[in-house]
Amino acid sequence: MKVTERLKAGAKVFSFEFYPPKTAEDTTKLFGTALELMRLSPDFVSVTNSSSGMAPYRTVALCGVLKAQFGLEVVAHLTCLAHTKSEIAGICAGLKKMDITNVLALRGDPHNVEVSARRRDYSHASQLITDLKLDGGFSVGGACYPEKHPESASPEEDIRHLKEKADAGAEYLITQLFFDNAFYFRFLERTAAAGIKVPILPGLMPITGYKQMQNFTQMMKVTVPDTLRRGIERWDGDKDGMFKFSVDYASAQARGLLEGGAPGLHLYTLNRSRAAIAILKNIKSDKDSHGKPQKAAEGNRK
Ligand code: FAD
Repeated sequence: MKVTERLKAGAKVFSFEFYPPKTAEDTTKLFGTALELMRLSPDFVSVTNSSSGMAPYRTVALCGVLKAQFGLEVVAHLTCLAHTKSEIAGICAGLKKMDITNVLALRGDPHNVEVSARRRDYSHASQLITDLKLDGGFSVGGACYPEKHPESASPEEDIRHLKEKADAGAEYLITQLFFDNAFYFRFLERTAAAGIKVPILPGLMPITGYKQMQNFTQMMKVTVPDTLRRGIERWDGDKDGMFKFSVDYASAQARGLLEGGAPGLHLYTLNRSRAAIAILKNIKSDKDSHGKPQKAAEGNRK
């Protein structure tokens, strides 16, 4: 089933993001995680794709396994900055062979791409979205940034370009992670005012340590609210304390998002299941009316 159809069906959509592991040991761990998370009956899982352009088929292959062997609905991330149009067409053909019809169309980060590898068929994700829609058969999503993309001069400029993605055919958007729901709800107001009507799925990630928090603020330019910063500083070095604090924080965020009308949640898992399971259990214990967490108690649908 295409992600767009799940979003249109009206129930809250829950999804998990994985990245392709590099070693055999990490692959085994990821498959263990996938087995655990399958029990929560996610609407889909997504698999990231390196923007270097060096290994797109690792994403395609993992998507194929997760779909064929685990029975999961899969969204393949596809970055375009390091690819020619004909390479993109080849990757799309590979996805179709695996029966993968959901793609998250992305530009990728220039600093991950060797200058010589930037083929310049694509400069922006909207161009990839146009090509994917012309290719046909894909349900296409795009990325968005409640605190604006770091390269954008202003939120207004960023939303103007986001509208180009929606106009090119993006059927839904998934947000960059954020730690203050006010950014998400303000973003919804701004995008609605700009005429962007597609569902915007919030991306959520429990922070696992002090260093990770610093990385987010530096690389992704996302704001870490004082309460979160203080908690992370308080629990730094205490694994269990940090886990509980960060799951509680993310669960409170998740509740606020769902109660405020978000169409669901996209959980950045870092290929681990424990925090995702704990967060969804917390939501479930609040309200079974959210749909999917209730299903989680019923076990795997397969
Ligand atoms: P774009 O939509 O092209 O936007 C990039 C910048 O260009 C923005 O500032 C935008 O405002 C601006 N812009 C857009 N169109 C124009 C135009 N016509 N003229 C001028 N400026 C314009 N990265 C990976 O490498 N692999 C992944 O799997 C991956 N998955 C992601 C998943 C999600 C949900 C998110 C939020 C991000 C993900 N990223 C991933 C990161 C993403 O590749 C980077 O944030 C990248 O810098 C921007 O990608 P984009 O698709 O948003 O680009």
